[in-house]
Amino acid sequence: MKDLLRVNNLSIFAPTAAGEVPLVRSLTFNVSGGERVALVGESGSGKSVTARAIMRLDPGLRTQGEVLFDGQELSTIPEEDMAGIRGGGIGMVFQDPMSALNPLMRIGEQIAEPLAARGVPRRTALAKARQVLDELGVADAARRMWAYPHEFSGGMRQRVVIAMALVAEPSLLIADEPTTALDVRAQEQVLALLSEVSRQRGLATLIITHDIGIVAEFAQRVMVMYSGSCVEHGSVAEIFERPTHPYTQALLQAVPRLDGPIERLVSLPGSSPRPGARPVGCPFAPRCSQAVEKCRTENPELLTSGGHGPHEVACHLAHMEVTQNA
Ligand code: SF4
Repeated sequence: MKDLLRVNNLSIFAPTAAGEVPLVRSLTFNVSGGERVALVGESGSGKSVTARAIMRLDPGLRTQGEVLFDGQELSTIPEEDMAGIRGGGIGMVFQDPMSALNPLMRIGEQIAEPLAARGVPRRTALAKARQVLDELGVADAARRMWAYPHEFSGGMRQRVVIAMALVAEPSLLIADEPTTALDVRAQEQVLALLSEVSRQRGLATLIITHDIGIVAEFAQRVMVMYSGSCVEHGSVAEIFERPTHPYTQALLQAVPRLDGPIERLVSLPGSSPRPGARPVGCPFAPRCSQAVEKCRTENPELLTSGGHGPHEVACHLAHMEVTQNA
């Protein structure tokens, strides 16, 4: 299927008193029409900053590389065109629904706003807002669209944010930790809802998460991020069956099978290196129980791992195994 989103060699740099620090290094991936892709990793791995860079939400950061949406290079278009793509062709859902909503505005008006900004008459925009709330399972939507955000629970507020993202019929949804701020029951409901809406609408979705259980439930393909780089990439079925990078293996320790019970991210000893303090060689080496001498001097490239279907890994040991089996 055709690429809807194509990210080529994206690097992101933050200014500091000591000079620029790379937050993301040479990241390349695509999302096809209707596909559900996950970026997974610990806090500070570069996944959220990647999503924000795609949408140009952090003008203080410098980016390098290409971001193509539907064939259009986003990093060079004028800001007013980019504003039209935000909430238009690309919808976004953030972690904290409260910060995404205006507490003084009725939720129906907020959902209708992206359409009103595109010149849709108010009555039509409000009718569409009600229709999307219905689609998202908000009971008595005609009445409740006149409520304020504080009158909704956390899970219902996140439905409102999803409705705002969907009302202009985007072809791509970017969901950045969409369930992290919710209680466990609301997390399950919102994830199930996102999954159903994505499938029913044939909506391409890029989900950003630290939770490997969410990847198993939601995505078809996954990129595992560590210290600003992709360390493993492949179909969810392939990665869960044959995790090859030691970091992915550690993430999956508590999730042995796709059809088994879903559990949450295990905690790893140590922490990911700070941006700017990445070691020479493999960034995972200080935490890796399998590290060899080469790991401390050479950064492994992301190369095909030789599995079933697309599967790439950045690990010297995995590369040696592929060479031996060739
Ligand atoms: Fe571990 Fe070496 Fe592979 Fe890095 S390259 S993950 S340190 S074995």
